[in-house]
Amino acid sequence: MLETPKNLTRNILLGMFFGFALGSVAYYFDFIPSSIEDFIRVYIFNLGGSIFINLLKMLIVPLVFFSLVSGISSLSNLQSLGNITFKTISLYLGTTAIAVSLSLFVASIFKPGAGYSSDIAAPEKLPEGQSVYSTILDIFPSNIIEAMANNQMLAIVFFSILFGLALNKTNHLTGNLSESFEKLNTVFMQLVLMIMSYAPIGVFCLIGKFVITDGLDIFQEAFMYVVLLISVLLFHAIVTYSIFLKIFTNLSPLVFFKKMKETAIFAFSTSSSAATIPVTLKTVTTDLGVNKNIASFVIPVGATINMDGTAIMQGMATVFIAQMSGIDLSLFQYMQVVLLAVIASVGAAAVPSAGTITLVIILQQFGLPLEAIGIILAVDRILDMIRTSVNVTGDATVACIVAHSEGLLDKEVFDK
Ligand code: ASP
Repeated sequence: MLETPKNLTRNILLGMFFGFALGSVAYYFDFIPSSIEDFIRVYIFNLGGSIFINLLKMLIVPLVFFSLVSGISSLSNLQSLGNITFKTISLYLGTTAIAVSLSLFVASIFKPGAGYSSDIAAPEKLPEGQSVYSTILDIFPSNIIEAMANNQMLAIVFFSILFGLALNKTNHLTGNLSESFEKLNTVFMQLVLMIMSYAPIGVFCLIGKFVITDGLDIFQEAFMYVVLLISVLLFHAIVTYSIFLKIFTNLSPLVFFKKMKETAIFAFSTSSSAATIPVTLKTVTTDLGVNKNIASFVIPVGATINMDGTAIMQGMATVFIAQMSGIDLSLFQYMQVVLLAVIASVGAAAVPSAGTITLVIILQQFGLPLEAIGIILAVDRILDMIRTSVNVTGDATVACIVAHSEGLLDKEVFDK
């Protein structure tokens, strides 16, 4: 059994607190000489934060590859792979559709954009969204090394499954080669734990970097949009996921959220579901009792296509911009937004601010002014952090549900 670092959550929270404190002091007070402030910003916060994110990212490809290959190659019943895929994708799309609907419902009642005008300039170059066509094509890599180098998660998952299947069929000829993958997977899990033990310092740098750069004035612009968006994000994370867990698994949502704290903080401070994959994998397997074979498929796929928080932002932003421009969306258009936001959130990469890029797809569809993205971007930093936490919480919820339905969730570990 691998050993988790002691008092990690407490230390991460402390790191967060000190990063926040030092960042605010440097941002708001003038008594620190600017050369020292620059040093703190560049060599402590920026460099420290980037090193930490690089270390996490360094593990993603080998971790996903080895865990998925070892999982698939040890499956005795390959039929179950189809069931697991079907359940996973349905739950991901279903929860995302609920998420956007919630967001549209709240936005249409409270009207964050009515009477709002802003002098924020449009971004110089509009971000370009990825088309559905290329999202689908990207699942099938022409060059696996290139896909790995570019962290193309669905392509890596696809290749790992094929490789695992081939390994499964040839195990008797290869002297049980799959066992070696199993062992390598254990080594990489140990690496995750080693890097996680530096999380308090990493989180200190990432939060400090955020505060020292932007301060805490996020609420000045688009106040209603920010408040409503955060409310829907929290509601979805707490209420919708609790209901899903209760209905499908009868597991305690309280225990679930308690164990998810660390992962949510990671997602919050990195703003990237992809960079959080190693931590999410570790939490769902060692703390929530999800079988490794299920987690190694559900989590990387979820990090790539399941973004409820992102869809919530996209729904809210669309209505906000429509209201701001004096455009009334019809019920049919609302339904279209649901569909488009599901697609746009699937298409968004699991990296910071990706959701604002695919938001363009929706705005274009309705002929809404793309320049308004300037306002959305102005307040996006903190919102991105919160919605990324929601995104990974959604992945873990689905992992628990799928594992439970397959009889592959260890209740004793979950309750421990
Ligand atoms: N940062 C988000 C994620 O990685 C994507 C987004 O909504 O921008 O999950």
